[in-house]
Amino acid sequence: MKKFFAAVGTIIFMTATFATVLAANYVGNANSKKFHVGNCSFVGKMNPKNRVDFQTRDEAIQAGYVPCKRCNP
Ligand SMILES: [Zn+2]
Repeated sequence: MKKFFAAVGTIIFMTATFATVLAANYVGNANSKKFHVGNCSFVGKMNPKNRVDFQTRDEAIQAGYVPCKRCNP
């Protein structure tokens, strides 16, 4: 039975990790051309119309965005 709960725990953990990956990990500002990690304080202050979501860091860089100096994505 212990193994069963361990397995369920692993599945829940993996699902949560997968959901985090699917959510926007990086957020770009179309106005400043900088990108941030999703929980950077600048993201909350950003005008929603300037917000650009990226799944990966490479995606942001290829779009011409530069990493934020505060959150250092
Ligand atoms: Zn930032």
